[in-house]
Amino acid sequence: MTIILVRGQHVITMNAQREVLTDAAVAIENDRIIAIDNFEKLCVSHPDAVIEGNPRAVITPGMINGHQHLTGDRLIRSMIPDTIDSQEAIFGWAVPTHSKHTERDDYLSAVLALNEALCHGITTTVEAGTVGHPASVLKAQLAMGTRGTLGSWGWDVEDGPFAGTVSEVLDRQREVMRLTKDTALIDGWVTLVGHDLMSDELVTSASQLARDNNTRITFHISPSSGDTTSYLARTGKHPVRHLYDLGVLGSHVLLAHAVHLNDDEIDCVVETDTAVAVCPWAYLRLAQGITAAGRHDDMLKRGVRMSLGCDSENAGDAVDPIRNAALFAGLIRDRHMDPTIMSAVDALALHTIDAARAIGMSDRIGSLEVGKQADLVVFGTDGPEWLTRSTEPILQLIWASSGSAVDDVYVAGKAVVRAKKSTQITGSTFTDIVAEAQERMTFLAGR
Ligand SMILES: [Zn+2]
Repeated sequence: MTIILVRGQHVITMNAQREVLTDAAVAIENDRIIAIDNFEKLCVSHPDAVIEGNPRAVITPGMINGHQHLTGDRLIRSMIPDTIDSQEAIFGWAVPTHSKHTERDDYLSAVLALNEALCHGITTTVEAGTVGHPASVLKAQLAMGTRGTLGSWGWDVEDGPFAGTVSEVLDRQREVMRLTKDTALIDGWVTLVGHDLMSDELVTSASQLARDNNTRITFHISPSSGDTTSYLARTGKHPVRHLYDLGVLGSHVLLAHAVHLNDDEIDCVVETDTAVAVCPWAYLRLAQGITAAGRHDDMLKRGVRMSLGCDSENAGDAVDPIRNAALFAGLIRDRHMDPTIMSAVDALALHTIDAARAIGMSDRIGSLEVGKQADLVVFGTDGPEWLTRSTEPILQLIWASSGSAVDDVYVAGKAVVRAKKSTQITGSTFTDIVAEAQERMTFLAGR
């Protein structure tokens, strides 16, 4: 089997020592990393290897996005006004768009969202729990060659798109597990919309379904203070305390957001080893209060497993892990008026190795280490932001650069992006998808 050497001026491993190698390469055989070392040395030990990357590149592990809607928002991208409140943005715009989605819309939407993700270096995308037609999204995931997770729309509210009884919602989740049973790169997860849009019976049995199937569950909770208000009215308790008392929380749970948590709720998260996906751009765009109420730094200090996420294309908008990491680090540093509290390396970890821990995949991905899956990103350094080259490439990557610098992306050893373009859906097939999605935007957004 052919061995590929992906070379760069800097190879950022994100291993336990956070080693950065200079003039180095990552050797790939099939889907795995078989060596990481000095480039010349690897050329000697693998004389027949194919050489990729380039001598000036920055190589990183594939980025992990812990919370991304692959449908709905994408087809009305940046169309939701930014001067309305988040409830109106979600229930006046996003949810109605989902309700009008056909199976084809789910496919178009997921292709475009994953195209942006992959072209910006995201190799693993955790779908956020609003997929109406999972088979269509799976088709897009397989076509684009991404790694990720898939669920199905889950809520048992009175009305709304894809609303169902507890047993209907659970059956849909089981169907996703059946669909993804034999897919190497896509894991079936249990996904609920969350907030206060799930009965106690639904969230309890969905959490158990994830446990029984040795998989994970994710749902939205407390991005704004609204969930606290409604849980207090309904249960007399704060949301995460209520979920703790129901026995829902655990290491198989990834809470999306968890911005407005009190001390007791943080204790519940810590004690149960529950993980959190944090999407800072969404809270800023939707004005949900992370600067006033966010407690993610306290959770990190107490060892909570955490991943950064990009959310959706009308809340966060850019599917760009580098912009995201820089923003989050900045918010945390500013809150404490202390630059030592989160470094660029720490921020990068929240899209790589720490994110892998948060989603239970750190045995496979999240760092460049021998034996792990060959998910890696080649950042080109021809742009003006790389003149001159720092000897601290992580500082330059996080604070000065963006996902737009990505040239090539590998998932499980396969180049799925080359020279900034997908290798998977190309040419007129891709431009036809873009044109079709553009037409659907006019219909879906009513404009
Ligand atoms: Zn979301």
